[in-house]
Amino acid sequence: MLLSIIVPCYNEQDALPFFYSEATRIVRSIGCDYEYIFVNDGSKDGTLYILRQLADQDKHVTYLSFSRNFGKEAAMYAGFCNANGDYVVVMDADMQDPPALLPRMIELLDHKEYDSVATRRATRTGESPIRSWFARKFYQLINRISDTEIVDGARDFRLMKREMVDAIVEMSEYNRFSKGIFGWIGFRTYWLSYENVERVAGKTKWSFWKLFRYAIDGIINFSQVPLSVASWGGVLMTFVAFLLTIAIVIRRLIFGDPVAGWASTICIIIFIGGIQLFCLGIMGQYVAKTYIETKHRPHFIIAETNKRNVRKIQ
Ligand code: UDP
Ligand code: MG
Repeated sequence: MLLSIIVPCYNEQDALPFFYSEATRIVRSIGCDYEYIFVNDGSKDGTLYILRQLADQDKHVTYLSFSRNFGKEAAMYAGFCNANGDYVVVMDADMQDPPALLPRMIELLDHKEYDSVATRRATRTGESPIRSWFARKFYQLINRISDTEIVDGARDFRLMKREMVDAIVEMSEYNRFSKGIFGWIGFRTYWLSYENVERVAGKTKWSFWKLFRYAIDGIINFSQVPLSVASWGGVLMTFVAFLLTIAIVIRRLIFGDPVAGWASTICIIIFIGGIQLFCLGIMGQYVAKTYIETKHRPHFIIAETNKRNVRKIQ
């Protein structure tokens, strides 16, 4: 049995040595054959230098170094495309995905009841309250409006069988939202909860706005409900406007009111203009995604690696 460990790394020079030694210790104790696939996602620090060193010392190490920063989703995809293992696991380089859980996860897959073991954090300790609040609201919203189940607190730390990895590689959309892709492809998944761990060194790459945009992307990629909200909102407003017109005509015929209330008219015009722009914006988001998708640009470009037979552009 071969285990592939995919590790996306972006500016992780401080955390990588910790991760490598701890993960290696655990994997050796399991006693299966293994390979590391470190994906250097255009780091600006010494990450690539460390990876070259690790690859020199250790035959189990493969590194794929991107030509620029393509994002964690692209890094994971590059890993999936180049993993050879029967079991494949994705892990962060910062030890927030504890390697100590691996033996348990492998044991669960060995029993053949499940095709994948996914992890979720039971709590969000160590995270700012505003961020947690937005995260919780995001999961509530997306699960209400999307058919795909997206689990709150789910991490990308997941052990999968070959069949599942092949399915993920086939999902070649450009706008990738892994939490949704994992849910969409199905398979029997065991959920393992653990306490949130703080990163061992370095700092998070996700600013609040980056996360916010990622959340919006997730919604647009896995739900068409915002589009129907726009059209149903339009239908409703037309109906209301129709009723109001009838009411005004009748009032004019019975009471002969002089014209009054231009202020409220202006307010209504601006309000409706705002709603129209908002709906156009929603449509624009989908059109933009379609535009990017139809270009069929590669997800990633690998500029350097230590292995042959690597898919360099995909
Ligand atoms: N990462 C990456 N490309 C990016 C951002 C992050 O490959 O553009 C990697 C990063 O090196 C780490 C993992 O994704 O291994 C998770 O990132 P981070 O720990 O910053 O996110 P958090 O745990 O705070 O959500
Ligand atoms: Mg982290």
